[in-house]
Amino acid sequence: MSLVVRGAIKDYDWGIVDGLARWAGGATGGPQAELWYGIHPGGPSPLVDSQGHTTGDDLARHFDVESIPLLVKLLAAAKPLSVQVHPNKALAAAGYAAQQSGEELRRIYSDPFEKTELLVALQDFEAFAGWRDKDESIAFLSAIESLNAGLDLAAAKTEIAQGNFKGALPLLIAANTSANVRTLAKAAAQIGLDPSQVGAYEIVMREYADDAGALITPLLAYLALSKGEAVFLPAGVPHSYIRGIGVEVMTSSDNVVRLGLTSKPVFVDHALKAINDDLHPQVMRVHIGDLIWPVNAPFVVRLLESGTERMPTGAYRIALAIEGKSSIVFEDAEITIQPGRAAVMSAHDPDADVEAHGLVAVIQSTILTQA
Ligand SMILES: [Zn+2]
Repeated sequence: MSLVVRGAIKDYDWGIVDGLARWAGGATGGPQAELWYGIHPGGPSPLVDSQGHTTGDDLARHFDVESIPLLVKLLAAAKPLSVQVHPNKALAAAGYAAQQSGEELRRIYSDPFEKTELLVALQDFEAFAGWRDKDESIAFLSAIESLNAGLDLAAAKTEIAQGNFKGALPLLIAANTSANVRTLAKAAAQIGLDPSQVGAYEIVMREYADDAGALITPLLAYLALSKGEAVFLPAGVPHSYIRGIGVEVMTSSDNVVRLGLTSKPVFVDHALKAINDDLHPQVMRVHIGDLIWPVNAPFVVRLLESGTERMPTGAYRIALAIEGKSSIVFEDAEITIQPGRAAVMSAHDPDADVEAHGLVAVIQSTILTQA
């Protein structure tokens, strides 16, 4: 049958103070950044019994990554997460193997799997995702030059003009100083970016003026999502979530290669290998109730507020209650999930229907398992 889990909490410093309290089972007085629903060793989900109490058991003791190939998160960002890129399958497998054999001594990859991810906004959500328009990027860098006597970003601008954003990154990291980072918002205003974008750069300056990678943020496209809208980020697309609360759905991987805006280790060499300038974010201007099925995603997602959704047997499925109580109805049983709890069904569990009484995220793997 189906197991019910709660999320494994992560208190990363960029989290909103008590931002996930209504799903995490209470306030902690500190940042609450993520709740993890899945079997990833970095945070396997605790099982809860029919009374709603944790049992001391977790999901990873019952399933492996073949059975539960997805990781679902609730995420609450108060300030930008690192500028990051996720590796594709080949790079993750090779990188992880090199670490395991001792050929690579740095700890860059946490598992051998590709990470592709979808973020669905649960409220207004801001992100940097993919590359900014070429001309606008160049104008932005020129404005930064005009505000910093002696700064020469000509070589980086030449790379961008040729469509080689990747090539510009090491040049901008080398030119990065806290003084020029402090001109980002002014430069953004000078080239006519709207106030929300200028505001995003004010946050970058406030939180990351001394960060060695902050000067690459002018190259990133700004994205504002409303509740229910989503962005799909294939492996290889650079991004940084700025602020907001959302549901994230991804392959069961925690492979994050960072370029900047972080106190964690940065691996520019591996990030450059991971970035694929030919891939782009898929922004999905959908509404609550619409099916979210990004091209090439190994999952489909629907946020339901009312009504029913069928979750057929044969693939991994998870329903995460966000507001109100929802029911998971099987032929001969029914379970109810409270906000922050999720019902997990492996490919071998029977057909089920989700009956939404308040917002519930219904996520289904598109990888079918032979019966
Ligand atoms: Zn990411």
